[in-house]
Amino acid sequence: MGLEDHELARPDAVSPTLRCPICTDVFAEPVSCSSCQQVFCRSCIERAVLTCEPVCPTCRAPMTKDLQPNLVVSSLLNELQVRCVHPGCYWTGRWDERPLHSSHCLARELLLMQEWKAEMEHVRSMLIEREKEKGAMHQRIKELTDHTSRLEEEAKVKQLQVNVKQSMLDFKQQEVEDLRRQLGQVIKQQHASHFHLHSLFPLLFLLLFVIHLFFFYDTLPRVSRVLGIQECLFAT
Ligand SMILES: [Zn+2]
Ligand SMILES: [Zn+2]
Ligand SMILES: [Zn+2]
Repeated sequence: MGLEDHELARPDAVSPTLRCPICTDVFAEPVSCSSCQQVFCRSCIERAVLTCEPVCPTCRAPMTKDLQPNLVVSSLLNELQVRCVHPGCYWTGRWDERPLHSSHCLARELLLMQEWKAEMEHVRSMLIEREKEKGAMHQRIKELTDHTSRLEEEAKVKQLQVNVKQSMLDFKQQEVEDLRRQLGQVIKQQHASHFHLHSLFPLLFLLLFVIHLFFFYDTLPRVSRVLGIQECLFAT
């Protein structure tokens, strides 16, 4: 690609012999064919040789990438009147003077400052965003810390309640053990009393039998006679 028309001060005044037959722009880094002396932009002919055949597009002579610059055309191009490429600058001058102008072009510096300012604004907005995220994270950390503290307090209260209930349970278990022990003793005493009552049953039965004999079968007078008690009784 060569020098485009909008970069020229007067595009119509440029001779057609200074235009590349490939891109039709004014030559940029002009090189020429060693056979037919046709001039091309260096980038245009190198791209054509690489992508198509390695021959001259004009005379079909073999071409290599080792192309010699055309110094005569270069000197003519240096005299062309060109514009500054930076928007807002109205400088015009020789093409070979444009690099020097560009190094201290105010429009370029203004453009760079605007780019820097935009970049600074971008960085500033990023910093503000980071600060907001940092604040939100700190707030979240504080909330989590408070929540953790509340949970720890609740856990302590629950543990105390569990300890109290465990103490009450131990006390109730002790009461149950005491009652069980007392119940065992009562059962043992009842068993002992039943045993004594049962052992008296034969004696009671014998006593009732003797009373029965004396009172219902007239046993007492007979026994008294046998024993000589009757006379004593009548004598009295
Ligand atoms: Zn070209
Ligand atoms: Zn040629
Ligand atoms: Zn300028």
